[in-house]
Parts: sequence; C-alpha cells; structure tokens
Amino acid sequence: MRDRDTALLTIDLDAIVANWRLIAARAAPAEAAAVVKADAYGLGAVRVAAALAAAGCRTFFVATIDEGLELRAVLPHPDIFVLSGVLPGPAGDITAAGLIPVLNSLEQAALWQGRAALHVDTGMARLGLEAAEIERLIADPGVLAGIDVDLVCSHLACADEDSAMNADQCQRFRLLADRLGLGRRRSLAASSGVFLGPAFHFDLVRPGAALYGVNPTPGRPNPMAQVVRLQGKILQVRDVDSPMTVGYGASHRCAGRGRVATVAVGYADGWLRALSNRGHGIIEGGRVPLVGRVSMDLITFDVSAVPASAAHAGATIELIGPGHDVDAVAAEAGTIGYEVLTALGRRYARSYVGGGV
Ligand SMILES: *Cc1c(COP(=O)(O)O)cnc(C)c1O
Repeated sequence: MRDRDTALLTIDLDAIVANWRLIAARAAPAEAAAVVKADAYGLGAVRVAAALAAAGCRTFFVATIDEGLELRAVLPHPDIFVLSGVLPGPAGDITAAGLIPVLNSLEQAALWQGRAALHVDTGMARLGLEAAEIERLIADPGVLAGIDVDLVCSHLACADEDSAMNADQCQRFRLLADRLGLGRRRSLAASSGVFLGPAFHFDLVRPGAALYGVNPTPGRPNPMAQVVRLQGKILQVRDVDSPMTVGYGASHRCAGRGRVATVAVGYADGWLRALSNRGHGIIEGGRVPLVGRVSMDLITFDVSAVPASAAHAGATIELIGPGHDVDAVAAEAGTIGYEVLTALGRRYARSYVGGGV
C-alpha cells in the first residue's frame, strides 16, 4: 500500500486462471467459458479476461452490449456472448464488434439475423423462451429464419443446493433441445452446475463466481483458490477509559477500558452497511470485531485485544483475505459472496498480481 492509499484491493490473476483451469479439467470434454459480466464481478473485466484468454479461454459471457464492446476492444478473437440479448433499435454496434446475442424470446429473435445463442427457460422464469414460445418454434421453425443458432442454453435455479429441481431442469433442457433440434452446442451449467456432475456439462459450461473464489459448493469445502485480498488502513486509534458510544446512532457502547480503531473503508466502498456491529477484521492473525455502524467512508473496530504495537495509526487491517474469505464476509452480512464482490468500490487502490502465462 502506498503512503497515500487508505485501502488496497489486491486481485490475484493467477488464482483466477488456476480456478478456470480447475473447472476446465472438471468439465472436460466440455469447453469452459468465463462469465465476466458486471466488470468480472467487480474485479476488472479487461484485466481478468486478458489473463484468461492468454491461458486459453476462448469464450466469454457478458451481460450488456457495452460490457461486450469494452471486452472486444482488448480481445479481438474470442467469442463474446451478450446475455441480455438484443433490444429494439439499430444493432450496428453488436454486428460491428462481432458480439453474439443470447436471444431470450421470440421478440428478441425477430430483431436479429446471424449467429446467436438461444436461451430456453427450464424453470428460472427470468430470461429465456417460455413454454408457449418453444411450442410455437417447434411448430414453425421458420420463425428463426436467418438466425444461425450456435448454442442452446438454459440456467439452473438451485444449482448450489441439493435440490430435485436440478435433475428436473436438466431433463427438461435435454428434452427441449432435442425437440427443437437447433444449435450446434448446448450449455446449462454455471459455477455450481459444474459440480453437479457430467450430466450437467453438455458442450459448454459458464462459470463466473467460482473463478473469483466464491464457493460453488456451499456447505462443503471450497475447491476454489482465493482471489481477493482487501486491506484497510487504520487512520486513528482511540483509547477508551470511560463508558462511551461509537458511531452514528450510538449503536455500540464501550463498557470499560479499551481501544477503538477507525479504518478508512465504508459503505461507499461496498463494505455493506449490514455489517454494522457484525463483521470483523484481522490484525496480525487476531480477529477484531467491527463495532458501531458502517458509515460512508469509515468503520470502527474494537482492537482492545490486539497489542498497540499492531493496531496503530498507519497499520493495516485485513478485511477480506485468507483468514476471512469472501463467503465469510457475505455470511456476516447476511448475503452471498456474489454481492460482496460486485459491491467492491471503485475508490480502492488496486493491485493486480500474476496474469502472465
Ligand atoms: C451470471 C450467469 C452465469 C454465471 O453464474 P455463476 O453462478 O456466477 O457461475 C452463467 N449463466 C448465466 C445465464 C448467468 O446469468
């Protein structure tokens, strides 16, 4: 961390590549794509995708056309699928950049000519052709005239749980794809789906979160390497010698003697306000509880249990790291690792390590 930095986010590109390779090996002979939507879950789509492309990843998924254009500017060759599909209006940007829309409805299909993926809904009720549209398409394949269906895909609702719905969706997907008789390739699994077994792999898997270290198998040991480290700098340490309260709403009361450290990270940096009086950090291996409310730029920790030689102004506290990973922070905040990652703020100084192949 430079002197002037108040917090540092370190992103390990080698760990992302290792995670992609682990999934690729697990899914083989299916191809492993990489989902880099939402700026690669907050970690920087351009840096992440460049490292993965150098490692051999040939297929990327983004959510929006703008995300696709950002990626195309640095990656001339790989396939880039756009999950939101096409919207009414000129499609010039998509065609010029050679992006491939994922067509989610017959309405979207009517707007498109050329190579595409076709998304069929098998139980998510979010995006994808619904049952009536699929029947219409089977009755009249001419509806897709001029569309070169490369990939038929669907998305699992409960892949991170041991749910009967997984096998149901898998069977429904197989049946629908067979009846449609469209597409050169099929894809069903995202991160957690990869770990449901070969029946879910089809021709292409689409992992996102697992590449970034989130556990795709909740309740079981995390097979993925940790990618993110977040360190905050202590701005001030206050000695408490009489009962007093800390922060907005006076929601924490220090009963006796102790010390409180103020760290330069807040909800504007994506340190979720739900972590008020709940989260913790790590100083030289020791856990320190977050006390008081998370404010916009600052959080406070009770560092009474840590020697003053470790918890002093200018020292760093680990907020996300090996001893306190993304999923652990998410559990404390009552959310999922996906939200913790995608909330990571733009204000952190960032350091990328690795990424050369
Ligand atoms: C976001 C997304 C993925 C990636 O999901 P992860 O759980 O992050 O692996 C794959 N497919 C679709 C359609 C998605 O929207």
